[in-house]
Amino acid sequence: MLPSMQWAHVFKTRGQTIELKQIPVGKPGPDEVLVQIEYSGVCHTDLHACKGDFPATPKENLVGGHEGVGLVAAFGTQVHDLRIGDLVGIQPLCPKLQLSGYMVDGTFQQYCICKADNAVRIPPGISLEAAAPVLCAGITVYKALKESNVQPDQIIAIVGAGGGLGSLACQYAKACGHKVLALSSGSAKRGMCLYDLGADYFVDYKGSNVAEEVKRVTGGGPHAAMIVSSVEEPFHQATQYIRPGGTIVAVGLPPGKLSTNIFSMVTQKINIKGSYVGNRYETEEALAILIRAGFSVQYNVVDFAELQNIYDKMENGGMKGRAVLKVGKAPTKGSSELSGYCRDVHLNLKQENGTPGNVVSRSLEQAIERAAGDFRSDTVTVPTEPVMQAIINASTFGDDIYDEGGDPAVNAFQERIRELTGKEAALFVLSGTQGNQICLRTHLHQPPHTILLDYRAHVQVWETGAIPLLSQATVTGVEPKNGIHLTLDDVKDRIVEEGNFHFPPTRVVSLENTLGGAILPLKHAREISNYVRNVRVPRGRSPIVMHLDGARLLEAVTAEGITAKEYLDCFDSASICLSKGCGAPMGSVIVGSREFIDRAMWFRKMFGGATRQTGMMAAAALAALDHSLPLLPRVHALTRRVADYLHRIGYEFLLPVDTNMIVIDLKKTGVRGEALVSYCKRHGLLAFPSGRLAFHHQISEDGASRLQRALLELILDEKRV
Ligand SMILES: *Cc1c(COP(=O)(O)O)cnc(C)c1O
Repeated sequence: MLPSMQWAHVFKTRGQTIELKQIPVGKPGPDEVLVQIEYSGVCHTDLHACKGDFPATPKENLVGGHEGVGLVAAFGTQVHDLRIGDLVGIQPLCPKLQLSGYMVDGTFQQYCICKADNAVRIPPGISLEAAAPVLCAGITVYKALKESNVQPDQIIAIVGAGGGLGSLACQYAKACGHKVLALSSGSAKRGMCLYDLGADYFVDYKGSNVAEEVKRVTGGGPHAAMIVSSVEEPFHQATQYIRPGGTIVAVGLPPGKLSTNIFSMVTQKINIKGSYVGNRYETEEALAILIRAGFSVQYNVVDFAELQNIYDKMENGGMKGRAVLKVGKAPTKGSSELSGYCRDVHLNLKQENGTPGNVVSRSLEQAIERAAGDFRSDTVTVPTEPVMQAIINASTFGDDIYDEGGDPAVNAFQERIRELTGKEAALFVLSGTQGNQICLRTHLHQPPHTILLDYRAHVQVWETGAIPLLSQATVTGVEPKNGIHLTLDDVKDRIVEEGNFHFPPTRVVSLENTLGGAILPLKHAREISNYVRNVRVPRGRSPIVMHLDGARLLEAVTAEGITAKEYLDCFDSASICLSKGCGAPMGSVIVGSREFIDRAMWFRKMFGGATRQTGMMAAAALAALDHSLPLLPRVHALTRRVADYLHRIGYEFLLPVDTNMIVIDLKKTGVRGEALVSYCKRHGLLAFPSGRLAFHHQISEDGASRLQRALLELILDEKRV
């Protein structure tokens, strides 16, 4: 489901122009990952790269950028330790200056390829936009700190402490237990270094007799000095004040030469060295320290299209703090060719109607705000602007039943589902329950007959006992031995073959993916399907049928990194919910062979689901799919981040967190469902007492962090009593 084209900033000729344009999305090699970039930091190195200031020749038509964070969107066959949706960072790794954003395409694009070994795991506890600058600036100063060999309680001088790199360096040094001498200039920087950054000493490096002053306040000079300044003079000063045996680490890149007095360098045993970025493990360490110590990173988030402006500002010194490009859904300028990705909804509405877009009423706005903290279910999503606009556009009041060939909007929607699922035909239905029951009824002709299913299956447990009423079928409820999902082993034993008139034969095996957010992997679906479809049946009978309750199939295949087609090859029919993670206002869709769907239409009518003015809802569902499907990896990543946090503070789960659900084992954790609800409520959040937390594309980062806070308070209080 990856797009074939994407937006990227392409550096034309050395340093002359940057062009924002569409280029193809790459395919990762066997040991590579494709990362959907959310944020990309912009630093001076990029500017140098853009201008061609490095000794090596940059790649032609280079996509710049070398510090980016995002989600794993795809990976090669040799990559085994990453999952779709994992949060990773791409950093400048350099053996032989193989810099991303210089020798290979970098992070100023929506989808960037990097070696899996270089993908840095972003741990929970830091926002993505804050992580982006750490990948370059943070690791640069952290690595330099390691190179300085300074020991806990020893003093390190940070030269240029008031700048972006310097302020990070001060905080890292403090977090690692060193004493910090900050060198910067002016009383504002003095206050900032001593009070905000926690430096122990301050010396103004523009003062007179800097070396004497440094030696005096540090009682003999610092044990190490890290120089991030981009002017030359502080390098010379450092050789004069460093303590004998000390180390000077150069990080800043001023033009010029370093000359020292060889006699004193030898006799004082002074080490002078350069330091440049670090490896993946050091970056992961740097992130972990930053999160643990909770120090601040200064950055400004700017629109993806603003890169040229940022460079202009950097060159003329007008840039305050570090810029972080918001890549994500890509440029708000530009065209709408990548539909659903980078369309500026407001602009479109104005253009198409000639009136300002006001399809989002105040009450819908409020509903969206509420959805941001509503963890009861993924059915609580509310229509986005494009969805509302689609409803307006489709309001032609066709009649899907009377009109010859059906309603065009319904047909367009069903066509899209056919493409997505690889099935011959699709049919819009009112609800998931209706979809499942129509499918089962269509498959089953004359009792006696049995449906084999997971004992927790929605079709059996949550659908008001419809199976015996509508299809006159009994069920065989099977408990998966692995506690998570059915396997061939579970199914094999429980199939009732035809021939013994005591037992109603199995005619349908009904699986569910996801169940409680846990995936039933393709491998197992295939094994079950291959077996079931080949069970011997009497002459003249059709094989046992495979049905999928795929209410959240699209969540499952997105997380597993497979296509819906591949998965549905194992099934004769499926019901897919539109009103859940897909974000449609209502409805479900069933798929199967043409013949199957033709027959299903009888039962849809019989079960009261043959609605006529379905066009609006079908159009809304189509727009919702475009909008929501690309967001699923992000939803899963957020879910996993919260799950990681909850696990660390003592929560136990009933099921693996594969997609958008966290199912808390309330008993094992030792918290009560009612308390969970009331703690959430106190933080303005909605949850059910079952312990199941459902995430969806409208859950906000803020909603997620409030949930973490609520559940931390809950577990602390419940454990106390
Ligand atoms: C939601 C859901 C359905 C269908 O539910 P409706 O509320 O009838 O739309 C079916 N199966 C599963 C697994 C579900 O989660």
